[in-house]
Amino acid sequence: MLKTALHFSHQLLTECINPGNIVIDATMGNGHDTLFLSELVGYTGHVYAFDIQDKAIESTKKKITAQAIQNTTLIKDGHEHAVNHLPENTKIKAAIFNLGYLPRGDKHITTTSDTTLTAINQLLSILEESGRLILVLYSGHKEGMTEKSDVLTFAQTLPQDMYSVLTYQFINQQNNPPSVLCIEKKRA
Ligand code: SAM
Repeated sequence: MLKTALHFSHQLLTECINPGNIVIDATMGNGHDTLFLSELVGYTGHVYAFDIQDKAIESTKKKITAQAIQNTTLIKDGHEHAVNHLPENTKIKAAIFNLGYLPRGDKHITTTSDTTLTAINQLLSILEESGRLILVLYSGHKEGMTEKSDVLTFAQTLPQDMYSVLTYQFINQQNNPPSVLCIEKKRA
């Protein structure tokens, strides 16, 4: 069976991340991606996870505390400021953005084109060779529709000699299922 967008985003992460890598969860939410990344990088790697909501930090903190996870730093700030929170000269192997609003949270607190594009640009500049930026895009709400369109428009302009850009989307499903965008850096 073809994978859902979420499962496919995890496959793309698994293929590129090795133990010891430094990676980013750009939208921590309830911490599912944070935990997934934490396993992939192992005890020698590190995950920096970002969210702007206390609710997300608390929910993820509970999970990492319950599992005694040591390789993860939770940061309450927007992903557009992510680079300011990393040690100097850090290079990352991957970042995941699961855009939109917190499931069962306030639907008005959502990612937006401006900050998402700022974050993408900044994180691309510190991405290692063969590293990947992966975005799960939702077009089922107004802000998400604009954000998806803006992000895809930007991604299409990335030079082919530097980046491979892939989209994964079911085109015959109802109710706007999420899609995936993956930007892989060919050379640093
Ligand atoms: N990856 C999460 C998980 O595994 O549960 C789901 C993420 S949820 C769809 C999107 C999250 O993005 C929300 O928790 C929201 O607060 C957060 N968010 C919105 N704007 C943000 C920003 N500028 N920087 C970081 N996170 C942001």
